Order: sequence, then C-alpha cells, then structure tokens
Amino acid sequence: MQVKLLHDLVEEMAGENTGRIVDILFGKKDVNEFSIAKKMELTINQVRNILYKLSADGLVSFIRKKDKRKGWYIYYWTLKTEKCLVKLEGSLVKKIEGFRGILGSRETRRFYTCPSCGIEVGEEKALEHGFSCEECAEIYELSDNSPAIRETKFRISRTQKNLELIQGELVTIREKEAKRRARINKKLDKEEAERKALMKIARAAARKKVAEAKAKLEGKTLAVKKKVKKTVKKVKGKVAAKKKVVKKTVKKVKGKVVKKVAAKKKIVKKVAKKIVKKKISLAGRLKKKISGKR
Ligand SMILES: [Zn+2]
Repeated sequence: MQVKLLHDLVEEMAGENTGRIVDILFGKKDVNEFSIAKKMELTINQVRNILYKLSADGLVSFIRKKDKRKGWYIYYWTLKTEKCLVKLEGSLVKKIEGFRGILGSRETRRFYTCPSCGIEVGEEKALEHGFSCEECAEIYELSDNSPAIRETKFRISRTQKNLELIQGELVTIREKEAKRRARINKKLDKEEAERKALMKIARAAARKKVAEAKAKLEGKTLAVKKKVKKTVKKVKGKVAAKKKVVKKTVKKVKGKVVKKVAAKKKIVKKVAKKIVKKKISLAGRLKKKISGKR
C-alpha cells in the first residue's frame, strides 16, 4: 500500500509515468542507474532527470563510482524511505485540508447547474447572470449537494486512512532507527568501557613495572652502598692498624733513641768529670811546680 502511495507521490513530483521507479528502488540500496533505465525502458538521461527532481527534495540519494573500463562515473541510487513518507504525510495532510474546504462549501453554499450543458456555478455567479446559463441562456437549476458531500466525505476518510497508514509506518521506521542507534550506542559504550578497562590494566602494569625497576635499582644501590661502607670500614681498620704499628714503632724507636742519648749523655758527663778532675790535678801540680821553683 505504501508503495502505491509513494508511486503517486513520485508522479506528483516528477511527472506522469515516473512512479514505476519506486517499484524498482523500494527496499533496495545503491541501484545502478543503467539497470533502472533498462527496467523502465527509458534513456539514461530521462532516468537521470527523474532522479535529479527527486533528489532535489532529498527523496533519493546517490553514490558514484568510476567505471574503470569506460572511465566515466556511474551513479547508484537509493530511495530514502523515511524522507518519502514524511513528504507523503505532508501531501496527504494538504489533500485532506483541501477536501475539508470543498465539504464546507458544499454543506453551506448553494450551487446551480445548467440542465442542458451541465456547467455548475456558485450562487454569486448565478445571481450575476440572472440565474440563466452564460452559454446557452437556459435557466439554472439548484444543484443537489448531497452526492458531492458524500463523495468528498469518502475522499477525506480514504485519505485519512492513508495518512494514518503512513504515520504508522513512520513510527515503525523511527522506532527501528532508534533501536538501531541504541544498539550502536550500547556497542560503543561497551567498547569504550572495555577500552577504559584495558587502559586501566595497562596503566597498572606500567606502574608495577616502574615500581619493580625502582625497587631493583634501590636494592642494587643499597647493596653497593653496603659494599662501599664495608670496604671503607675495612680500609679504615687497616689504616688504623697500620697507624698503631707505626705509633708503636715510633715509640719504640723514640725510647731507644732516648736511652741511647741518655747513655751517651752519661758517658759525656763522666768524661767531662774525668777531664775536670784531671784539669784540677794538673793545675795543682802546676802550682806546686811554680811555687817550688821560686
Ligand atoms: Zn447552459
């Protein structure tokens, strides 16, 4: 049913005998324009003309691909079903408004018909011409509005039904689209959550690695420090021991020297005493000698 309605819509917009294109495009995607032309038994330019008119209102979309062999572009067309239904909805609403206008005037106004030529005119026009036909001067008869009212009411209800059908279809399409989007969003959210979780794990692993490397480095540094300390201690110990030995030796040497010096001094003193004694005795003897000679 909606295909039939879309058919009519396309004909309204692109001209007579163009509605068949809906049968070819409906429910399909990226249809080759040459295959459309073949199916419609039209030239490629005629088909393109129809499609350009429809694409001006966004009812069809296209992609183009370069034909590698022939070197030109081939267009592939897709019917935009939702856009078409929205356009159709608008067109049906307008039609119903028009029918309601006709119904209103049929229900409230008088119309007159010429019984011989069948031309119908409004009350004002009939009055203007003295209630006789403009063409044949026959006296107008008051029209029976009831068939027109019946017919218009039928048209309104039929169009209303079509409108409801299209609106129902639009609801379905939009719900489907909303569901599709929700699915995509859910998928994206899931992917995002997974990505975040992975990042978290990666960051934690990186932190752990850094911490481990740091700990290892610290351990090594500590070991090196310990070793250095130990070595320093050892060296210091050795130095201290050496110093002790040196001190002891110095003391020993000093002691020996002091003793030797003291012994030498003693000897020197002794010798000096002896010399003094000798000097004294020598002087004594010299005095005696001198006094003896006198
Ligand atoms: Zn007439």
